[in-house]
Amino acid sequence: MTFVVPVPAVASVPVKGAPAGTMFPVHRIYCVGRNYVEHAIEMGHTGREAPFFFMKPADAVLPVAEGTVGRMHYPSLTRSLHHELELVVAIGKGGRDIAAADAMDHVWGYAVGLDMTRRDLQNDMKKQGRPWCIGKGFDEAAPIGPIVPAAQCELGAGSKIVLEVNGAVRQTSVIGKMIWSVAEIIEHVSAAWELAPGDLIFSGTPEGVAAVVAADRLSGRIEGVGTLALDIVER
Ligand code: MN
Repeated sequence: MTFVVPVPAVASVPVKGAPAGTMFPVHRIYCVGRNYVEHAIEMGHTGREAPFFFMKPADAVLPVAEGTVGRMHYPSLTRSLHHELELVVAIGKGGRDIAAADAMDHVWGYAVGLDMTRRDLQNDMKKQGRPWCIGKGFDEAAPIGPIVPAAQCELGAGSKIVLEVNGAVRQTSVIGKMIWSVAEIIEHVSAAWELAPGDLIFSGTPEGVAAVVAADRLSGRIEGVGTLALDIVER
């Protein structure tokens, strides 16, 4: 086979605890909207609704290797770049119409991720009833720490999810406050799309989303999964 333009690289994320160069290939990135009640309320909603989804391009991942600090360029067009710290689910086995009871068999691992959002552009699109792509699906919009194999994670309802910006806590909650559990999210996503190995699902953010600017340092952690450190740098 011959390709007529250069073949794109496979987007990928390092695997924690594996030999250097061992990567998780990224197929699609699904994101859940408003999956913590207090965040739904801060965005002007009731907090009680069926889950809904949007996507980011696979190459929007900005992988941050274990023990390093990632660098995200402040994106174009926006004056309101928001952080959303989220538990990311990495799919190892695909399928359609997966029941919640079977869903955990499809999970390869977890990671700490940031659903970075050009909030002003997203809000403009919402007002006009237009797609969110420009607010959510831009370059480097999905910083993510190493994928941790599920067997090495100790996630429970009480696992804390915390984001600090320049050492001050901005977001704090526990995984048990998700409206839809990981298993339920997989059931819903796989009813709408066929899941495939390499899919990532950003499972929603707790309350406290706010803007960051160049020179800010974001430090996220999810108990039982890991950490993610990110510097925002000038474009
Ligand atoms: Mn989000």
